[in-house]
Amino acid sequence: MSDRSTIFALSSGRPPAAIAVVRVSGPRARFALERLIGRVPKPRQAALVRVRAASGETIDEALALWFPAPRSETGEDIAELQLHGGHAVIAAVLDTLGKLDGCRLARPGEFTRRAFENGKLDLTAVEGLGDLIAAETPGQRRQAFRQLKGLIGDRAEDWRRRLIEALALVEARIDFSDEADVPENLIAPAAQIARDLRDEIAIVLADRHRGERLREGLVVAIAGPPNAGKSTLFNRLARREAAIVSPYAGTTRDIIEVHLDLDGYPVTLLDTAGIRESAEPVEREGVRRAREHAAAADLVLWVIDVSAIDGMSDGAPPRSKEPPHWLIKNKIDLVHGQSTAIGKGPSTIEPSNNEWQFIFSISAARGEGLDAVAWALSRFAADYFAGGEASLVTRARHRHALEETIAALGCALAVTAVDEPREELIAEELRRASTSLGRLTGRVDVEDVLDAIFRDFCIGK
Ligand code: GDP
Repeated sequence: MSDRSTIFALSSGRPPAAIAVVRVSGPRARFALERLIGRVPKPRQAALVRVRAASGETIDEALALWFPAPRSETGEDIAELQLHGGHAVIAAVLDTLGKLDGCRLARPGEFTRRAFENGKLDLTAVEGLGDLIAAETPGQRRQAFRQLKGLIGDRAEDWRRRLIEALALVEARIDFSDEADVPENLIAPAAQIARDLRDEIAIVLADRHRGERLREGLVVAIAGPPNAGKSTLFNRLARREAAIVSPYAGTTRDIIEVHLDLDGYPVTLLDTAGIRESAEPVEREGVRRAREHAAAADLVLWVIDVSAIDGMSDGAPPRSKEPPHWLIKNKIDLVHGQSTAIGKGPSTIEPSNNEWQFIFSISAARGEGLDAVAWALSRFAADYFAGGEASLVTRARHRHALEETIAALGCALAVTAVDEPREELIAEELRRASTSLGRLTGRVDVEDVLDAIFRDFCIGK
């Protein structure tokens, strides 16, 4: 299955840097050390060494580490060199390694993939590791670390173990139904296990998607009619947050997004195209996408220009309460001569009515009333993520697998509920449930998802 070539890569960040870490994993790792540094250090102890090219020329002085299999990250022999992080040093070392028989450059995520294939990490831990590297806020970091350490993986394994117990009971009935000393009532305890599992998993799933949102960011869409000041507000909110992590243009022509860190929680702010009726096809498409994004958001900030004659009526109030909408009355500097309703901090939040959860009066251009909006956004994020235990489910993939498990358990229980339950049908459903859990942790049949997961890793990880 796994190819037994020895892989190597630069595992640290972009050079030049103080230190560069080069890792080698596989059966030739020991040989690689002997060739590069002339010896093999004691396992798991740093040694100061000279690193030499094939010609014998010294490339660098470095720290070397040796992790013999199976007690290594990949489960294979691993050699690690901590070099000076210059381009030429790294190039010379990689070049020397590349010329060794049976050694080749690693592909993205290949170290982690070997760890998975050697049973060092289950699939959820692999995802946790990927998330930890990608984490941009403290909340994301904590969640990723918990997942790496088995928060969902261990739980799923426990569920699977109990499922297999239930299955064993049912199979005992099937295999030995003729024998007198096999108790009749093996189905009842099996059904009890199935019922408990179904209830436990249902509780885990009823988390309002908190884990997925924490991983991907809570989505706040700024929407409203054209020229209301949406982009101005967007830029203001984006700029005032010191911790903007990765501003980049969206994939569509009309939607720009920015990632904010609000009190440790990730919020993705979307600036959507002006929502209005238009005959122009390109604009219509922009508007359609804007509506779609606003509908899929966790919160919509609906911006209107209060100075426009029909400012209020142009507000096109939301048709449904989901997601919640906040009304942002912008350009208050243009009404009543000079701004009167501003400068009072949170008091610019008006009481909510049926349509709007909150109403704010601001001047985006002057930056007035924005404190209240930013404060309310932080509260919104904190409330969203607060409470309850840490979420186990952080991806749609997990949710899907657990929903399948519950569905199969439901079928198994339905079969046990009839007068003369057919044991082989119960067994079949329990097996199906266990397969779904196995897919979650990567124990069974996951070739199709592996590529998608490891593709997101960098080389050297
Ligand atoms: P969008 O089409 O909704 O994104 O609106 P923009 O942010 O592009 O703003 C449209 C126009 O309104 C621009 O000329 C802005 O400078 C102006 N504008 C935005 N906010 C305010 C405000 O609070 N007061 C005033 N006077 N003008 C504003």
